[in-house]
Amino acid sequence: MQLIWLRSDLRIHDNTALATAAAVGPSVAVYLLSPEQWLAHDDAPCKVDFWLRNLGEMKQALGELNIPLLIRNAPRWNDAPQVLLDICQRLNIGAVHLNEEYGIHETRRDAAVAETLKSQGIDVHSYLDQLLFKPGSVLTKTGTYFQVFSQFRKVCYERLHRSLPRLVSAPMAQTPLNIASDEIPTRIPGFTPPTERLRALWPAGEAEARRRLDSFTDAQIDYYQSERDFPAKPGTSQLSAYLAAGVISPRQCLHAALQSNQGEFESGKVGAVTWINELLWREFYKHILVGYPRVSRHRAFRPETEALAWRDAPEELVAWQQARTGLPIIDAAMRQLLETGWMHNRLRMVVAMFLTKNLLIDWREGERFFMRHLIDGDLAANNGGWQWSSSTGTDSAPYFRIFNPLSQSEKFDAEGVFIKHWLPELAGLNKKEVHNPASLVGLFGVADYPPPIVDLHASRTRALAAFKNLPQRQGTGGYHE
Ligand code: FAD
Repeated sequence: MQLIWLRSDLRIHDNTALATAAAVGPSVAVYLLSPEQWLAHDDAPCKVDFWLRNLGEMKQALGELNIPLLIRNAPRWNDAPQVLLDICQRLNIGAVHLNEEYGIHETRRDAAVAETLKSQGIDVHSYLDQLLFKPGSVLTKTGTYFQVFSQFRKVCYERLHRSLPRLVSAPMAQTPLNIASDEIPTRIPGFTPPTERLRALWPAGEAEARRRLDSFTDAQIDYYQSERDFPAKPGTSQLSAYLAAGVISPRQCLHAALQSNQGEFESGKVGAVTWINELLWREFYKHILVGYPRVSRHRAFRPETEALAWRDAPEELVAWQQARTGLPIIDAAMRQLLETGWMHNRLRMVVAMFLTKNLLIDWREGERFFMRHLIDGDLAANNGGWQWSSSTGTDSAPYFRIFNPLSQSEKFDAEGVFIKHWLPELAGLNKKEVHNPASLVGLFGVADYPPPIVDLHASRTRALAAFKNLPQRQGTGGYHE
């Protein structure tokens, strides 16, 4: 008997571990509930809820293939080896199949599981599935991990030209086994369930992920390049939660994008090329996580930036978290995060720069807060995004390029449509006033909306000085755009 250990690969189609196990012989699937570990990792309640809802869909789909889905508790990942060994011994499992996950704790967990099971004569097979390229297989000429995205991407393109990762077929139904599937819990203590409104924004299941992918590649991808920076427009795929939970695979995304672009990934339609580029950013940050494990430990990619004199400003941090900074674009974005579990990419950069530059608050505070609220929270992408914005990471925004939230707002939400949607208290302002209601104070004032917590000009100067005062940069390459 084969055991498929499901983790962040909650789908039937194009699932390497599932397809391989099922091809070997009769199979059972298992999912481990690890609430203590999830809390330690700051996994958001809405994300945990999304996992559970997708497990419900998975149970049904696996049921149609006669593959039972077991649910076991392994509160911390240290518990995983024993819990899995128990199942293997009880069901006489010959081999366990799993798709690789990346990150220090994930790697340690999988090594401990493999050691325990192998010592008892049970095989463990792991597969590349979450990524297009195995970390460690895309390296510089001197054999190191790339630190610059454009160079990494170039090698990815060369590889893709040579051979495209193939989709794996969904398994056929097997002969029914006499093993019952377990109930999927609807909630996990310690994780407050999200609102129905939030749930409705992110329906579970592969069919929904596929629907999003198809409607994006059929109708929107051609406009992706020109519309993706405008948060009031539905210009992006909104697939990140599905990709993070593995409800859809990057291979499925790549194939769909290529199909809309006559098989081209480097040329052809600019929308498709730009979108594939984003899939490669996802890839890049996961490779960084493996190649530079310090980022998995929440250390700065650029060690010299550890010396930055971050401010201890708890009230300002809370104002940022609670969408009360007095800067409409920041507050609207933070409300979007709090209410939907997702934030538009342009705004993720804007609020992250504001926190780390204008407020000069440590990027780790923002990283943690995002992780605790994002339905698509992913260590590699989140850490990459935060370190990019705070100029502490690979390929970062140069420290002297500080986004001005007001000009970002005027440029990317010119009519104030996004702001007014999330901050109805500003609905009465015209498209000039809405970006900066503080400019009205003294004239009319805006009831119910706070004044800015920081002076943008003075805080910019303060941030520049803090970065300039850093000790000499140490051989991590210059700043790149
Ligand atoms: P699309 O624009 O349609 O892109 C398609 C897919 O490509 C996304 O679903 C995502 O998987 C991937 N992708 C796009 N942009 C990036 C990027 N910059 N880095 C890595 N992958 C990318 N993305 C996450 O998936 N999880 C996170 O926790 C996360 N945290 C972020 C934190 C900050 C501070 C910043 C600046 C960015 C973060 N991102 C994160 C990247 C990006 O904002 C989201 O992937 C994107 O907004 C998701 O929306 P979408 O699915 O519509 O993306």
